Amino acid sequence: MTQEESLDKKPVEHFQFQCKSCGFELDHEIGQNSLVCQSCGAVEPIDTESFNVFSANPYDSTVLDLVRNEPTDVHFHVRCDTCGAGFDFPKNTHADECPYCGQNIIVPVNLQRQLKPDAVLPFDIKEEQANASFRKWIKGLWFAPNSLKRLAMRKHPIQGTYIPYWAFDADTYSSYTGQRGTNYTTTVTVRVNGQTQTRLVTKIRWNYVSGNVSNEFDNVLVPASEMMATKLTTSMTKWNLVKAEEYNPKFLSGYRSELYQVGLPRGFQKSKDIMIRTIRRLIRRDIGGDHQRISTVNTRYERVGFKLMLMPLWVSAFLYKQKTFRFIINGQTGEVKGERPYSWVKITALILTIVAIIGGFVAHNKGMI
Ligand SMILES: [Zn+2]
Ligand SMILES: [Zn+2]
Repeated sequence: MTQEESLDKKPVEHFQFQCKSCGFELDHEIGQNSLVCQSCGAVEPIDTESFNVFSANPYDSTVLDLVRNEPTDVHFHVRCDTCGAGFDFPKNTHADECPYCGQNIIVPVNLQRQLKPDAVLPFDIKEEQANASFRKWIKGLWFAPNSLKRLAMRKHPIQGTYIPYWAFDADTYSSYTGQRGTNYTTTVTVRVNGQTQTRLVTKIRWNYVSGNVSNEFDNVLVPASEMMATKLTTSMTKWNLVKAEEYNPKFLSGYRSELYQVGLPRGFQKSKDIMIRTIRRLIRRDIGGDHQRISTVNTRYERVGFKLMLMPLWVSAFLYKQKTFRFIINGQTGEVKGERPYSWVKITALILTIVAIIGGFVAHNKGMI
């Protein structure tokens, strides 16, 4: 089997949520746990329960049950109920619009992935608010070219997309060895212009140390998408997880949604890379003194739990000087993360100004002597 698994061209089963009164399509109503008809305005509540973010699935037993550790890429072939067109969804996408008639189509996750999302964080902010956040962000960028700022004031096509994230819990027990550095002052004798002088200098005394630190991690988030720039999705860390709802495909109606592409074991590896930063901080604090060196760290992970969550992002990109700059906006908080160009003209101008100020200052002081 190739890396890119091609399903036979038989259309897959899917959901298309339609209005009970007029038959038109239903979209998730942002900020509400309901669907709303885009034609007659009828409202249909989503039968949902709020999700307990402190619950988790056991990691070890789930990994043992996995048929394969890493998921394969997939394109779903879909036949639209409304217009009858057959087409392929973009890679690893399980919710999108019909490209011919715009109907919302959601393919059940279990058709291609063993683990389904446990929870979804519904969109809280609308496209206009997301665009406003983006414009504010770009206006506030230092050293951005003016032509970019003008470009950013225009409207950009922006897409509501659910990105899967793994959330890991773990109790960690780490034993370490290292060194504690303590400052001390001592006098040294130096010869200046043929004369002996004594001076006070600060030195560091190093002592070997070892110890143990433990920590309880909750909801360490790891993006499970490889189609979105990992740098952007990893930096998006501020989520209000208590607003999560139990997974229900109705929340996806009107958005794009991705299947996870980073498997559970690899996701856990990535979460360890995040946890170790906190663990090293705890070790430095445990070592104390004025300076710390860490030589070895051995960590045991216990009671490891995970959940798969769909996070709401408004996703877009702009083209500037033939280069694509991507940006994402948190669909819950409006926080913006983006790639950005720098204006070297502005940076050089600032450096020259600083040099001129320092130069002027030095010249002034010389004049005083
Ligand atoms: Zn209707
Ligand atoms: Zn269609």
